[in-house]
Amino acid sequence: MTKTLAVLGSTGSIGVQALEVARLSGIKIEALSGCTRVDIIENQIREFSPRIAALADEKAAAELKIKVADTSTKVLSGARGVEECARCAADTVLNSIVGIAGLAPTLAAIDAGSTLALANKESLVTGGKIVINTARERGISILPVDSEHSAIFQSIQGCRSKSQIKKLILTASGGPFFGKTRAELKDVTVEQALKHPNWSMGAKITIDSATMMNKGLELIEAAWLFDMKASDIDILVHRQSIVHSLVEYTDNSVIAQLGLPDMRIPIQYALTYPDRAPSPVGELDLAQAAALTFEKPDYETFSCINLCRKAFEKGGLFPAAVNAANEKANELFRKGAIGFLDIERAVGAAFDCVPDVSDYTADQVFETDEAVRRATERLLL
Ligand code: NAD
Ligand code: MG
Repeated sequence: MTKTLAVLGSTGSIGVQALEVARLSGIKIEALSGCTRVDIIENQIREFSPRIAALADEKAAAELKIKVADTSTKVLSGARGVEECARCAADTVLNSIVGIAGLAPTLAAIDAGSTLALANKESLVTGGKIVINTARERGISILPVDSEHSAIFQSIQGCRSKSQIKKLILTASGGPFFGKTRAELKDVTVEQALKHPNWSMGAKITIDSATMMNKGLELIEAAWLFDMKASDIDILVHRQSIVHSLVEYTDNSVIAQLGLPDMRIPIQYALTYPDRAPSPVGELDLAQAAALTFEKPDYETFSCINLCRKAFEKGGLFPAAVNAANEKANELFRKGAIGFLDIERAVGAAFDCVPDVSDYTADQVFETDEAVRRATERLLL
């Protein structure tokens, strides 16, 4: 169980909820990091008195340094500062940074020997092989925070051999546009895409849920975390977001984890594992939840899922490429510069931007990310 914690991305949706869990569980905060939000992190520093804090944005960090000069917290800046927070040697580093910006801090936390509570799925999508191999070599546990992966992790407790697992089944809410045709999707607005039916999350992942790219990224995340082939990972649309994912065993028993759609449950499990503790989240009232429904995703309309599957199967730098195209296109869509369907067009085009290699270094991942972002801008603008 975690006694000391660093929260990277503490100013975001997951970060704030992680600090709520830490507050209730009496976990000591060693380090906090964000990007630009001086006001939020200042309040967090005053409440949790971390030893160090960092903002990735240099200007914001300079401002923060002045604001918290009366505290004992040392303020660092830039990507280096964030990495230093990842190396603070807390029992657990919870990485809730959004995007590939989380990859270097993930590797730094593993290198420093902390348990990694991982919300930042993009670090596994882009650098999966390096992250998993380094963690294995160093004997570091990676505990999933993403709700589907936490559900799978909870559903495999007590399983003595991986060979007894036949299939992982990731559930998907379907997002705000489930049931729409491609013609209807063409002109959807940013405002409509940001209205998620069940979850309140950061803007990037909310758009990823609308395109269902999120489920594609999660498929890759699950393949790395649980050492599964992509072909052994199924996806089921479950509109109610009560069943968070399932595991099918060789005897055709299916074990699932259920709960209200509230990230504080999987965050807390990653921090109390292997134990459990009382939660601020309410009880699941199944009689009130009434019908739980399941259906196949519409892979033609939401093609990002299968583009991610293909990227994982091709291996090498392809997952980093589809991730980079998505990050860039997602950002351009949120700025109103491109249409909704341009996001999947960019993801599909990313395959042509990278060499087909089986092995890669972290530097190659970052180079691929830069190159694909540039190519995506050329394609879409
Ligand atoms: P968010 O946008 O609310 O927060 C992102 C955090 O990352 C902020 O603290 C921000 O300051 C920080 N950040 C942004 N750019 C950075 C950079 N360049 N360097 C360092 N820090 C930077 O995002 P979120 O919704 O909390 O999601 C965070 C991660 O968790 C994502 O990978 C997302 O896919 C995953 N996740 C989120 C949820 C959810 O419910 N929000 C659920 C499952 C998984
Ligand atoms: Mg998820």
